[in-house]
Amino acid sequence: MSDFLRELHDPDIPVPEGIQSAVAVTRLDKLLSTVYNWGRHYSVWPMAFGLACCAIEMIAAASSRYDQARFGMEVLRPSPRQADLMIVSGTVTKKMVVPIVRLYNQMPEPKYVLAMGACASGGGPFKEGYNVVSGIDNFLPVDVYVPGCPPTPQALLHGFITLIKKLDSQSLGNRNSMPWYSRGPSDAVPVPILGPDIIDPRQLHMIRRYAAQPEPTDESAAVEAEA
Ligand code: SF4
Repeated sequence: MSDFLRELHDPDIPVPEGIQSAVAVTRLDKLLSTVYNWGRHYSVWPMAFGLACCAIEMIAAASSRYDQARFGMEVLRPSPRQADLMIVSGTVTKKMVVPIVRLYNQMPEPKYVLAMGACASGGGPFKEGYNVVSGIDNFLPVDVYVPGCPPTPQALLHGFITLIKKLDSQSLGNRNSMPWYSRGPSDAVPVPILGPDIIDPRQLHMIRRYAAQPEPTDESAAVEAEA
């Protein structure tokens, strides 16, 4: 039996022993999901944008030496409307996170985010710096993290393979794994507001609650310090 048929076969459905090596029995949703995922997992189009030093390694991964084309991912698109993978490759400053979230909202479903490198994953060497966010996952849902400072092109290719595995695990029978088929357009991620600091609109209620609290008096501050 070929690998494809072996993968297609549903182990929960019993098959008579004599024909097990020649027959694959499966459910309709599994058959459709396998064909659907086969059709899309080697044609993920990343968006062409880079943020910092990690982007140089991303560019190297697209060169002939590493041959990103093997994964069908060599078509870097200049427009979010034509891309389904956002590679966040580099340091995410507070100023840049605003257009990054806007670009993400402009990508059609299904869409994926890959955080490339220590900066995009958690702030990296600049973590908690005055002008840097501590990971793009504070604002966007990240599907794959690629560690490193910078990650090598091979590490990025491993990230692509991990993403492909994730795509393969999504099933038309499980609406939670493919939410874009179960309802209307997904809700846009609220775009952060850049002022003296970056504000996530999802945390406005918390900010208002703290702002409404009375200023601590000297006495209450001393009691708090003692505790
Ligand atoms: S993780 Fe390292 S190489 Fe990548 S952008 Fe940050 S500092 Fe540069």
